[in-house]
Amino acid sequence: ITIADLVRESYKRIEEVDGKVQAFLTLDEERALERAEELQKKLGADEGLLYGMPIGVKDNIVTKGLRTTAASKILGNFDPIYNSTVADKLHAADAITIGKLNMDEFAMGSSTENSHFAKTKNPWNLETVPGGSSGGSAAAVAAGEVPFSLGSDTGGSIRQPASFCGVVGLKPTYGRVSRFGLIAFASSLDQIGPITTSVEDNAYLLEAIAGLDPNDSTSANVEVPNYRSALTGDIKGLKVAVPKEYLGDGVSEEVRQSVREALKVLEGLGATIDEVSLPHSKYGVATYYLLSSSEASANLARFDGIRYGYRADNAENLIDLYKKTRAEGFGDEVKRRIMLGTYALSSGYYDAYYKKAQKVRTLIKQDFEKVFEDYDVIVGPTTPTPAFKIGEQIDDPLTMYANDILTIPVNLAGVPGISVPAGLSESGLPLGLQIIGKHFDERTVYRVAHAYE
Ligand code: GLN
Repeated sequence: ITIADLVRESYKRIEEVDGKVQAFLTLDEERALERAEELQKKLGADEGLLYGMPIGVKDNIVTKGLRTTAASKILGNFDPIYNSTVADKLHAADAITIGKLNMDEFAMGSSTENSHFAKTKNPWNLETVPGGSSGGSAAAVAAGEVPFSLGSDTGGSIRQPASFCGVVGLKPTYGRVSRFGLIAFASSLDQIGPITTSVEDNAYLLEAIAGLDPNDSTSANVEVPNYRSALTGDIKGLKVAVPKEYLGDGVSEEVRQSVREALKVLEGLGATIDEVSLPHSKYGVATYYLLSSSEASANLARFDGIRYGYRADNAENLIDLYKKTRAEGFGDEVKRRIMLGTYALSSGYYDAYYKKAQKVRTLIKQDFEKVFEDYDVIVGPTTPTPAFKIGEQIDDPLTMYANDILTIPVNLAGVPGISVPAGLSESGLPLGLQIIGKHFDERTVYRVAHAYE
């Protein structure tokens, strides 16, 4: 099999199923085949870590010469003239980018229904959502269209869709992967991460994209270890903490049951399990929506119709041009966040909302640090329920926000978390187990995930 065959295989599968799944927004087979030819010549000499591997990339990750929209009308015609750092790193690792994947507009959402362009379906049941915001990234891997994809996770957007689609998704430690060229939503929370079918593939992909980047001052100067060598299967003596808040009311009984079964597996492998508390995690969702919307209101100010993308017609003057462009270019959920964030940051309200939320964020982070003084990992469910029906939550933002109740605290604390498949619900939909580690300790997260899977 040649690399071009591999690329054609991927496109053949896309041809077969993507009409239904609608994971991809942009495809360029010719470009992928050219790259395959180029790589074929390298065979046997100095092959990269992801040599010849087809990969899909979430559409908020900037790719030179490949349309990048963040699933927004306002960037509908944006053709980048530069690459994100992760796109450069994929290239350096000899991967082949197959296309760009659907998402909630600007990564705001938990179902991919907020995309301006299409509603991605969950390949396990086409009437249900794939999760979000990286719904296209999770669905493409679950449907066998690509073996690898990249997503981004600000408040659960890799782990929740991975859980809904029965695949493996990791949110790395904040600072582990460069955000240069990731279209910013909430800069203090955003992190790019890998989605794959196995933990081993996930470790390969993280190793290829991680590391310090002079173009991102928040990327960390911490050496990138060999993640694959952590996959020993041995977790004897490992200390597992289970937060009681993660198995409380609001988490469905079948989800709790699947976690209890997973804990038995870990115990059988020699780990010890204890119940702990993350007392401030109940404030996570409120804190997150204040902080992430505040940051979004600042980050999205750049979309003014002048510098990039869509520009409204018939403006009477400059201010009118800004107003019309933004009114026509942004979707409802994005507007809701911009208004919420602008309000929270306005003078007179700043102390009561933004500053207060920052303080609670610190308390949430300290909860995790305290548990990690005595434990190696924290384990719980990824989501309170399996995938829900398309349309079921879209008119009820607060219910939609509650999807991320178990994933958001991890972003606020900046620690790494993975979702691995943990059996099926009664309705035949995937459930996910979330494994959370210490800052920069993705190795232990992978070790536990691999021993479990
Ligand atoms: N669902 C959350 C939100 O809507 C998380 C999104 C994300 O992680 N990008 O903000």
